[in-house]
Amino acid sequence: MKNDCLFCDGPDGIEEDLVKRYKNWTVFVNLNQQYLGRCIVKLNRHIVDFFEITEAERKELFETVIPELKGALERSFEPDLFNYASLGNCVRHLHLHVIPRYKDEREFRGVVFRDRNWNSDYKPYNKNFEISEELRHSIATELRNSI
Ligand SMILES: [Zn+2]
Repeated sequence: MKNDCLFCDGPDGIEEDLVKRYKNWTVFVNLNQQYLGRCIVKLNRHIVDFFEITEAERKELFETVIPELKGALERSFEPDLFNYASLGNCVRHLHLHVIPRYKDEREFRGVVFRDRNWNSDYKPYNKNFEISEELRHSIATELRNSI
């Protein structure tokens, strides 16, 4: 279906960043990993507004997807807090950002991640924060294996 939507029409280049595909939702790691393990949870159909999800979609999100993702993030990276954001300003296809927050630095595969905004909003953050694709794929693999 053509919606001029990145999530509907874009190339499905998320395979290596995929954490888990559910009936109604898909979880993948965010391109920006300044917050180690930051994920996007997108609805598998195109709507814009969070409060237009169906009962089945809500139930799966609240009872399965988010608890499983939180569990995997806790086992992998031990965040101190979770932020959740549903904005839709840039991509108007319903998705949630699940943003693990950390009091102290974390190290993964030899790279140090620091939550420089601890005790305040996750934004503004360093949009130019870059890690290698390989490392990002390792983060996805880590979560995939612990979900
Ligand atoms: Zn879409």
